[in-house]
Amino acid sequence: MPFFTDKGRIRKVWHSIRNTFQRDRSQQAASRTEHKKNDNVTPRWVHKKPITLAIGAIAALVIVGFSGNQYVKAHAVDFVQVYMNGNLVGEVASQDQVNQLISRKQSELKKNNPNITMVLETGTLKFEHKSAYKAKPASSETLQKLEGLFSAHAKGVELVVNGKAIGIVKDQATADAILKRVKGKYAPQTVAKKQAIEVTALAFSSRSVAANSNPTRSALKSVNFLEKVTTDVKDVQPTDILNADQVYLMLVKGTVKATKYTVQEGDCVGCIAHKFNISKQVIYDRNPWIQDDMIKVGDELDLTVLKPQVTVQTIENVTETVSIEPITVIQKNSNMRAGEQKLIRQGQSGKKKVVYRQVKQNGYLMSEELIGEQVLESTVPAIIMKGTKVILGEGSGNFAWPVSGARLTSGFGQRWGRMHKGVDLVGNSSILAADNGVVSFAGTKNGLGNCIIINHKNGYETTYGHLSKISVSEGQVVEKGDKIGVMGNTGHSFGTHLHFEVHKNGELQNPLKYL
Ligand SMILES: [Zn+2]
Repeated sequence: MPFFTDKGRIRKVWHSIRNTFQRDRSQQAASRTEHKKNDNVTPRWVHKKPITLAIGAIAALVIVGFSGNQYVKAHAVDFVQVYMNGNLVGEVASQDQVNQLISRKQSELKKNNPNITMVLETGTLKFEHKSAYKAKPASSETLQKLEGLFSAHAKGVELVVNGKAIGIVKDQATADAILKRVKGKYAPQTVAKKQAIEVTALAFSSRSVAANSNPTRSALKSVNFLEKVTTDVKDVQPTDILNADQVYLMLVKGTVKATKYTVQEGDCVGCIAHKFNISKQVIYDRNPWIQDDMIKVGDELDLTVLKPQVTVQTIENVTETVSIEPITVIQKNSNMRAGEQKLIRQGQSGKKKVVYRQVKQNGYLMSEELIGEQVLESTVPAIIMKGTKVILGEGSGNFAWPVSGARLTSGFGQRWGRMHKGVDLVGNSSILAADNGVVSFAGTKNGLGNCIIINHKNGYETTYGHLSKISVSEGQVVEKGDKIGVMGNTGHSFGTHLHFEVHKNGELQNPLKYL
């Protein structure tokens, strides 16, 4: 080793310095006795000389030693020992080489697996810095060996529902986006939309109701999964990673296989639903092309019953503007005849805002609760004045058939060259008062036989002829529909029937205009 050869050299130099020093000391001892007499030289000077020489010798020694070190240093090579998980892998010229290897491997992984998070396992690397004379570290061998020791795996994020693994996606952002999309399927209002709705709701109160074309609004209050949905970061193989659409479909469809059915002779939507023991709604939902239940032989139906892995529960506040009908206030007036009424004030309908809290699961309404009501526009009640004054025997002005099940056998007007003053009716034999009134005649009249005349005290009179029996007497007050006699064939008559006349202020009327 170069260190030992140098030591011999140092010893030789030291030996020559020591000899010089000793020789000097004997010369000084001689001159000291000589100078004692003339005292030319101060003793201090004399004493100083050997010290000066010693310092010089040490300096020389230091210089020799220093230059030896310089030599070693000039030929020493720094290198790094690389340990992986505590085991020596080899030596490299610099740690940078290892760092470069790692970053090269990492970019290779990234390039070969563009959409996957790859992790390079380098183990625990430790570096020991060494230096040796003319060392030649086998860098490339070490790096090659190290590369062989490295391993790689993918990192994925697994979606777990109630402890059941659904699928692995490439990263947390993808997992989050899928969950957001599932929620969005049943809660279509995004956060941005929700804010817009709240803004509308604020503006709503200050604007007129009429300006609001769509009175139904829905504000999403919460959306969450009923199941425990978690995500776990996992070390996986790149092939384990599924794309986002696959995992989304697994969540909303479950792992149910598609069921197809071809419509056969005699099938109907309801029959197929019954045959497969599924709801008709499933058939409509899965086959939106069906209109008015129309399916024909050969049509292919999708009868897949989805069993989603998750249940999205949404809570929405649904606001509706509904109209309120006005109430009617009745004012009684004893100066007005009973049955008469007069509209005093037209009612006006109002508007109110009602808020329902709807809980839906996967879009199906589970419960609805009225949580708020606010009147936006009050109603104006209608006022109707109703008369209470009752005049006994006064007609209503509306006539009822005097015979139930009446059949007309002869009309009003000219007949065989003579005027027929009324109508002839057959039907039930009971004769009924056509309106309220007072019996003004009950007896026999020429031609009409047994006859009743009722004065309705409103300008009208009615006549009932050919009766077999009269059941009322003159002056009697009758009500509309009261039985007043029995149909007959008395007077100038050819067969049992009722002859019925209507007079208005003494003028003959065609009764059919009033019946
Ligand atoms: Zn007649």
